[in-house]
Amino acid sequence: MRIGCPSEIKNHEYRVGLTPESARELGVNGHEVWIQSGAGMGIGATDEEYRDAGCKIVDGPDPIFAECEMVVKVKEPQADERAKLREGQILYTYLHLAPDPGQTADLVKSGVTAIAYETVTGSGGILPLLKPMSQVAGRMSIQAGANALQKEHGGRGVLIGGVPGVLPGKVVVIGGGVVGFNAAQMAVGLGGDVEILDRDPEVLEKVGTFFEARASTRFSNKTNLEDAVRHADLVIGAVLIPGAAAPKLISRELLKEMKPGAVLVDVAIDQGGCFETSKATTHAEPTYTVDGIVHYCVANMPGAVARTSTYALNNVTLPHALRMARDGWKEAMRRDPHLAEGLNVHAGKVTYQAVAEELGYDF
Ligand code: NAD
Repeated sequence: MRIGCPSEIKNHEYRVGLTPESARELGVNGHEVWIQSGAGMGIGATDEEYRDAGCKIVDGPDPIFAECEMVVKVKEPQADERAKLREGQILYTYLHLAPDPGQTADLVKSGVTAIAYETVTGSGGILPLLKPMSQVAGRMSIQAGANALQKEHGGRGVLIGGVPGVLPGKVVVIGGGVVGFNAAQMAVGLGGDVEILDRDPEVLEKVGTFFEARASTRFSNKTNLEDAVRHADLVIGAVLIPGAAAPKLISRELLKEMKPGAVLVDVAIDQGGCFETSKATTHAEPTYTVDGIVHYCVANMPGAVARTSTYALNNVTLPHALRMARDGWKEAMRRDPHLAEGLNVHAGKVTYQAVAEELGYDF
């Protein structure tokens, strides 16, 4: 199969659909890979590296959209890209169609076969192509929070790990799922005094067993949450209620009872945020202060560590790409029902129930 990878054109997107290593894997398995010149720049991968990996380097996105059977990307296609998609072509990328009627209409019109990373499932009810980005965001949340805690960034001037003779910072992680677990790992690694709150007893048991005495766990109810937040130097918002907006767990009132200069990192901002005072920010200006409490609310945290994020994403997207290239997408989906869950649009129809229902398409 001929597979193409264009440069990402969405604002501030530095990731790329295929690393040179992934392109090489496709090549050694008998496929042809076309890469847009400069596509890997954001992760420090040069055209030379792609050439050495056996790719053909093409100028601009047009040859890829015109002549490749499968287009591998990271972000949803932008309007310019959607105009280039063709009937029968496979588009393999994040799509997030439910809140995006314009994109959905264009994909339907194009006749493309669009497979969304975010709806491919895995065993145990997880979304394996989203998981690495939650891992990245969780780990990064502590880095971002530690930075914001520094005096020159408006924070309390607390070092998370403390030093011998001085207590460490208190880190409260709300939600012990993928983001929360990874955040707690980093905070524990830095020597912080870490507490994890969740409502799911199984999650509490899992994190409790993993961290043993290195972190404490508490059931997440209003009383426990408020108590934890009042004493925190750094709070990580890492909750998710699938299919719903994030619950507002910290009210503006509660900010007044927090330590001045404490930091809130709202990772759940992409679902509306779990603090009443959260509003989405960008990497260009990631923080703002309300009532003396520093807020970090970047909605696309993984974009800042584009290289790590791209490699983490490729680890989970490449196996499906290889199987689709070898067997064709239909046969690959017949053999793997989890991949079949990724099919969102095909031949002019919305093929994913939740998107069809949300946007009023026949299913
Ligand atoms: P997850 O499903 O693995 O974990 C969410 C956890 O929240 C679950 O354990 C659940 O029991 C818990 N929870 C729900 N309500 C709670 C409450 N009231 N109190 C305490 N815990 C509660 O989800 P995840 O992958 O960890 O993602 C968490 C959030 O981070 C999502 O909104 C996700 O979209 C977001 N996210 C943001 C970025 C970013 O760049 N900002 C990147 C990746 C993920």
